[in-house]
Amino acid sequence: MAIESINPATGALIRSFPALTDEAIQQRLALAAEAFAAYRRVPLAHRTLCMRKLAAILDQEVDDLAALITTEMGKPIKAARAEIAKCAAVCRYYADHAALMLAPEVIATPQNHSYVRWEPLGPVLAVMPWNFPFWQVFRFLAPALMAGNVGVLKHAPNVPQCALAIESLVRRAGFPRGTLQAMLVEVPQVEGILSDKRIVAVTVTGSPQAGKAVGALASWLIKKSVLELGGSDPFVVMGSADIKLAAETAVQARCINSGQSCIAAKRFIVVDEVYEEFTARFVDGMESIRVGDPMQEATDLGPLATAGILAGVESQVKAAVDAGARLLTGGAKMLGKGNYFEPTVLADVPRTASVFREEIFGPVAMLFRVKNMDEAIALANDTPFGLGASVWTREAMEQQRLIAELECGMVYVNSMVVSDPALPFGGIKRSGYGRELSAAGMREFLNAKTVVIS
Ligand code: NAP
Repeated sequence: MAIESINPATGALIRSFPALTDEAIQQRLALAAEAFAAYRRVPLAHRTLCMRKLAAILDQEVDDLAALITTEMGKPIKAARAEIAKCAAVCRYYADHAALMLAPEVIATPQNHSYVRWEPLGPVLAVMPWNFPFWQVFRFLAPALMAGNVGVLKHAPNVPQCALAIESLVRRAGFPRGTLQAMLVEVPQVEGILSDKRIVAVTVTGSPQAGKAVGALASWLIKKSVLELGGSDPFVVMGSADIKLAAETAVQARCINSGQSCIAAKRFIVVDEVYEEFTARFVDGMESIRVGDPMQEATDLGPLATAGILAGVESQVKAAVDAGARLLTGGAKMLGKGNYFEPTVLADVPRTASVFREEIFGPVAMLFRVKNMDEAIALANDTPFGLGASVWTREAMEQQRLIAELECGMVYVNSMVVSDPALPFGGIKRSGYGRELSAAGMREFLNAKTVVIS
């Protein structure tokens, strides 16, 4: 894909950028290595000051930064502002907690003194997607910079201005030059960057295909990798649930970020006794959602980020219907300019249909009716993915069984899955490996150096 900003609400090309030359890449890798050698010695107190400044700038510039996000990838402006606020929050979280996370961990042994010392690894390559063009980067960046690592960012090609804005923010916050560099490069150039000896590790947020390619190369190079990949999260509704709240939350959980979120609920699994009531409320909610110009405050659902994503969603819905699924609402792209797709509910997608096992990255829900909890758990786990799960029941025994038996990295009971800087975030199966956020996320890119002094 060419590196260009195209407004998804209008199709207008805003700006295009040439990919970096090999020489420019070499200069940036040299700067990353130089920056790391100095930055790892910068005292934590100074890093903390810069991180707090970064949070303050994000707060001050929220309106401009949000408008940039919306113009490049089409999310509703109020969601873009919330994304910037969340970035400020993750900066403050790590500014507040890094000292404790990085403190040597004393472990009692028969030796005189033994402990684990947490050391930064070096320049980390971050391969990032467009769907939360600031948040995905900050979720990696805040713990990495607090720990003394530096970053090289290969962002998605449709959000180059977001990538450059993040580089500038980091610099203006007082972090030394080269601490975070945006590399406007194309996919074939990633292999050379990751293979370069100055890059020591890689984090990928994106599709399983991207994760597989980058993860395979990283392991061949014996470099640490973290993969945050796709999801097809189940949303399980049992008989004792608060159906009104579950249905309202289901609409939000499916349509967040115009349906383009890895942790959006995508498969709605509802037991017989409450299926009709849940379905009526859910379909009604999907039909009531306000679709429109993402720059308008009232808009809940904007265009999909690119024409390619729109075409992909359209063909997945068609394949589901061709395979025997029933359309309860929506099902088509909307007329006029922009990459708009109707909020859609598909019922009874057959297990044999290819889309049953795919992630749908748009406002399209797959709804399933099950007899009981055994069937609900079996269906929820019948997916290649294992990111999050949202389960709705007021019975403690049911809650405990769902928590224990769902194959995923995160379970939320009676609420939708959301990320929180204080909680580990990540998945299992084809949703990837490793964790972001919390102390677990920071430690992915640290050397746990064992020290024994006799
Ligand atoms: P994508 O197509 O995989 O792209 C993500 C990034 O990976 C882009 O920068 C992309 O660059 C790059 N990339 C793709 N193939 C590559 C390769 N072979 N080598 C090196 N880099 C490569 O994903 P997307 O469409 O942007 O994002 C949507 C996907 O991300 C969904 O599956 C979603 O669930 C997942 N996601 C996961 C999380 C999570 O935390 N688990 C969060 C957000 C999104 P190009 O675009 O230039 O190919």
